[in-house]
Amino acid sequence: MPENLDLSIVIPVYNEADNLEHLYQRLSKLAELQSLKSEFIFVDDGSSDSSFKTIERLAAIDPRVKGLSFSRNFGHMFALTAGLDASRGRAVITLDADLQHPPEVIPVLLQKWKHGAEIVNTLRIDSAGTAFFKRVTAGTFYRLMQRIARINLPQNAADFRLLDRKVVETLKTVRERGRFLRGLISWVGYKQEFVEYKAEKRLAGQTKYSLGKMIAFALDGITSFSAVPLRFATYLGLLTALISFLYMIYALYQHFFTSHTLEGWTSVMVTVLFIGGIQLIFLGVIGEYLSRVYEETKQRPLYIISRKVGL
Ligand code: UDP
Ligand code: MG
Repeated sequence: MPENLDLSIVIPVYNEADNLEHLYQRLSKLAELQSLKSEFIFVDDGSSDSSFKTIERLAAIDPRVKGLSFSRNFGHMFALTAGLDASRGRAVITLDADLQHPPEVIPVLLQKWKHGAEIVNTLRIDSAGTAFFKRVTAGTFYRLMQRIARINLPQNAADFRLLDRKVVETLKTVRERGRFLRGLISWVGYKQEFVEYKAEKRLAGQTKYSLGKMIAFALDGITSFSAVPLRFATYLGLLTALISFLYMIYALYQHFFTSHTLEGWTSVMVTVLFIGGIQLIFLGVIGEYLSRVYEETKQRPLYIISRKVGL
């Protein structure tokens, strides 16, 4: 029988060795965590630095600290998933290892939970520390998602949230690879509340979200919650057909009622290139969805754990 815990804190870690000690100290200082039976689950997402060594060292001095280490880098969403899978608390809080999610907000989350909320989301109030580029791209992405996906995705939502055990158990049954957690959280429903917090600057190191990872994240989000890009092909196809029809009438008129018909190289080229371009774009869109269907059907595990401590 697993022991009963009040709270699990899940922390995805990718090359964050310089932040872990400090994060642990900040968590340890919270009086709420002293009075609650808690566990801190650090999920090392295939770090190449000494992150896991640090986790092992912390686990040796504090039995609340537990650690998992992936066999390679699987990505933030998979690290969060592994943490949720391993957690046993009646409530689970996920937070980043770089201290951009201030642990001091935890008591506020717990308060809302005790008053009946089953999911307590957080909304980031942008500080000067958030890069202009990230603000603009994130803003555009969430506006786009709002329009094309039928899920309500608040802007500035962070992966810093409290989940009730019920919600964690629900999420554990969702094993799709397109792990767009923010979307899934909105999708599962339950009684949700929001808490605002002021994002801090990353303590040490650089963002682990490269531009490539951000694009992959956005594509996962869109394709796992919306088929609108596919439907665009239909709309655009209809529009092109309509234009072609009008052009055909014009061409026939030219042929039968005027004498100058052989010019037209330009219009043929424009049409061929335009339609060719559109076809390539939508082949790409279909490919994006198809590749995801392919990934899902393989049913591979979402992550591979190579080492554990305390679990
Ligand atoms: N992270 C991870 N795997 C990755 C990338 C990031 O586990 O492949 C972790 C990272 O260590 C951090 C959290 O996810 O705890 C958020 O990453 P980061 O702070 O770099 O993203 P940003 O805050 O810049 O969006
Ligand atoms: Mg960060």
